[in-house]
Amino acid sequence: MKISEVNSYVLQYALDEELGYSQQYYAKRTAHIVEVVTDEGIKGYGEAFGGGGVAFGNKAIVEKTIGPMILGMDPLDCEVIWHKVYNLLRDHGQKGMPLQALSGIDMALWDIAGKFYGQPVYKLLGGAFRERIEVYGYGMMLQRVPNLKERFARESAAIAAKGFTATKMKIGLGPKEDLALVETVRRAIGDDIKLMVDANHAYTAREAIPLGRELEKLGVYWFEEPVAPEDRQGYRDVCLALDMNVAGGEAEFTRWGFRDLIEGRCVDVLQPEVCGLGGITEYRKVLALAHTHFVPVVNHVWGSAVAVAANLHLLAALPDLPGGAHPVQPLLEYDTTPNRFREELLAEPLDVLGRVGREGGTIGLPNGPGFGFEIDWDFVRHFRAA
Ligand code: CA
Repeated sequence: MKISEVNSYVLQYALDEELGYSQQYYAKRTAHIVEVVTDEGIKGYGEAFGGGGVAFGNKAIVEKTIGPMILGMDPLDCEVIWHKVYNLLRDHGQKGMPLQALSGIDMALWDIAGKFYGQPVYKLLGGAFRERIEVYGYGMMLQRVPNLKERFARESAAIAAKGFTATKMKIGLGPKEDLALVETVRRAIGDDIKLMVDANHAYTAREAIPLGRELEKLGVYWFEEPVAPEDRQGYRDVCLALDMNVAGGEAEFTRWGFRDLIEGRCVDVLQPEVCGLGGITEYRKVLALAHTHFVPVVNHVWGSAVAVAANLHLLAALPDLPGGAHPVQPLLEYDTTPNRFREELLAEPLDVLGRVGREGGTIGLPNGPGFGFEIDWDFVRHFRAA
């Protein structure tokens, strides 16, 4: 079997209302789907992390830079392909967009392998440790509206009412504003729902530590990206100063980037983003490093239904850490803010929102070979921007 084409599809539409996090607000929803075609007719799909203009840049890397390097290669040789591409791109970017582009291609190779062997990807990864995966409903994104507190209260109550047992909100507006928002959400959801906060690296360690102490009083389960991803010492300082979990990793890439984060005990919860860090082939190495150092992993998930489906396989195949009869179970991150690429891209939608309500805050594993989905190509044609 040989790779005969490498294609990519950037999908985009205008949101009804802009959404934001501590770094920016955005008005368009974007998804970047990568397709690898073989001479035997099997096609595989992956997703490259990065919205807005980043997706258009990554499309060029997928099609013009990496595609020509791997045409004619056997798609089952995922390690050989990964290392060939990485070695050729190393002088031009060891993090960021080249790795995001490679991630989409690598994921497509795993989808192809699953279809070739007639097995779900989680089987190729060594099998499922669990039949069901608990889902946490992320929402409460920042908006430039006067009544943000009321909106957060309504939205978080709605997430709890949908059946989610854990939720996550954005912070990063400044410590005082953040605490007012978190207090509002805690009141709206009550004490029994797990609450996480995500600052998207808005703070220095000196700012994050006193804020974290107040968040602990509100029973916050983890403080995500308190400081800049490059600030390893800052991460370590925040970890040592606080009792609560510090989470991070979505802005890290490859085993070499994660090595320093993990060996430095910079986070209590590692959040690898498979659509960005280098794909499934590299994710496995990051996972091995994390478990070597006893750092729990809760995958970062963002993007379309392709990313969600792929992560269901990774979470199914994630070993318990440290193991036991009653292990803490990994969570699937699920964005509940409006996104047609998450809800409508697949011929048979994953319907995570519906299933969580019916299945006690969890969902079952995907069926079928590869990632187990078919893309709705009429939908893709309608929303294709490049
Ligand atoms: Ca985040």
